[in-house]
Amino acid sequence: MADSSLIIDRIVIVGGGTAGWMAAAALAQAFEGAGKTVTLVESEAIGVIGVGEATIPEILKFNARLGIDEADFLRETKATFKLGIEFDGWRREGERYFHPFGVFGLDMEGIAFHHFWLKASAEGESEPLETYSMAWQAARRGRFVHPQGGPQSPLSSLGYAYHFDAALYAGFLRRLAEGLGVVRHEGRVVEVQQAADGDIAGVRLDDGRIVEGDFFIDCTGFVGLLIEQALKSGYEDWSSWLPCDSAVAVPCERKESLSPYTRSTAREAGWQWRIPLQHRVGNGYVYSSAHISHQQAEDALMSRLEGKALAEPRRLRFATGRRKDCWKRNCVAVGLSSGFLEPLESTSIHLIQSAITKLITLFPSHKDSEGLRREFNALMEEEFVTVRDFLILHYKVTQREGAFWQQVRDMPIPDRLAAKIALFEETGRIVRRDHDIFSESSWLAVAAGQGLTPHGRHPISDVISHDANLGRLSAIRDSIWRTADALPTHEDVLATTMNRKAF
Ligand code: FAD
Repeated sequence: MADSSLIIDRIVIVGGGTAGWMAAAALAQAFEGAGKTVTLVESEAIGVIGVGEATIPEILKFNARLGIDEADFLRETKATFKLGIEFDGWRREGERYFHPFGVFGLDMEGIAFHHFWLKASAEGESEPLETYSMAWQAARRGRFVHPQGGPQSPLSSLGYAYHFDAALYAGFLRRLAEGLGVVRHEGRVVEVQQAADGDIAGVRLDDGRIVEGDFFIDCTGFVGLLIEQALKSGYEDWSSWLPCDSAVAVPCERKESLSPYTRSTAREAGWQWRIPLQHRVGNGYVYSSAHISHQQAEDALMSRLEGKALAEPRRLRFATGRRKDCWKRNCVAVGLSSGFLEPLESTSIHLIQSAITKLITLFPSHKDSEGLRREFNALMEEEFVTVRDFLILHYKVTQREGAFWQQVRDMPIPDRLAAKIALFEETGRIVRRDHDIFSESSWLAVAAGQGLTPHGRHPISDVISHDANLGRLSAIRDSIWRTADALPTHEDVLATTMNRKAF
């Protein structure tokens, strides 16, 4: 019979940012009626990082699993729809491309659409890839619709995510979590108490209270209070591949249209984001402090805002990399405590979601759960590494001028990314590995958008003649464009969705 002292009944989450409340809501729901308690400790005095507004489509699954109605969510978090990311000036100054959610064109003859596009390009046609993206054709017109229709409809291939106010999302989830029985303690943790075997036994707050638990989730942000300061997990530094180490962020009034996409504009020493929400626009400059001073970065950001700043600019420092063991002893790090990859592809909130989902799947019954721990750590490592490589691709393949861009173009890159780039260049193939959160279309969008041109393509693309190929491509483009022209505006869909009653 199992040792009862090893049974996990009390789950304690330390930290109440996006990670903490996502974990609290999901765990409380997953374990409802299973006799476990979920407690969360947070300190209003310390506060949250307070940035993090763009997401990827996986967030829909997280919300759906929690039973969140989209209309409530949009209203409560001031969210907008996101069809992808526009990359401005990343390949070279003055050029743009779009990373859409969803696919390009229509697969034909059993192979991916882009081989037919490559064939047309090799034979003299010059339409960019996003010509054939339903998401981009809707996005550039400021239009949106939920995915719908059968497989032949271009609208069935749309994917979407949200831009939202992360602080409002955390508050929304807090209400949900507390409704599910999560108990919240306000206070600053001043000591992490460990048992003789090294496991965490409890945390002591500044007023002397002790919150004990059997299993701990470290959501304390960059500081990694439990996973690093107490358990010394260690950190793998990836800044040689992703040298941006700072950001300055500020919201402003919106003057441009409510575009259903994020914009990322390459700058002298990094890049600037624009994220439109219902009530404001989020802006930030992510940069390498070795190439530009903090003041220069702030001045550059403030001089490029589209409307009046709504707050003081906020400076942030970070170390790109990941915690060596996201799960150590009886503690799992979720959110910034588990590592950080710059928000270029809006992946942090997804990594939180992914860690929580994996944790629920692998949640141990007892503390001696070495196999589950090992499995979780291996899965998280794989996920961090694939995101890392996808981000590096944006920097490595560029023709931009300037010291920062020269450095990233010349840097050595991880072997498996180098192999992926080489395979694409030689053959036009993109092979997606298990656990890669980015689809073939995403890799293709960025690889082609940054300027990689494959020398080869799938031989099946030659089963049709040049003219027949062009005929098919133009039929696909016309269908997508006609459909896009008929869509409602982003504002209209937002308004109608928010007024909709939940069924
Ligand atoms: P935090 O928000 O830092 O929360 C930490 C919590 O721990 C707080 O509640 C704090 O009070 C508590 N805490 C800490 N120490 C103690 C203590 N001693 N006692 C008690 N409580 C304590 N992600 C995206 O997905 N999309 C984006 O567009 C995006 N943009 C970003 C831009 C920048 C510049 C940065 C830096 C990050 C961005 N992120 C983005 C990441 C995103 O902000 C985070 O993943 C998300 O906010 C989760 O943060 P967190 O909850 O892990 O940490």
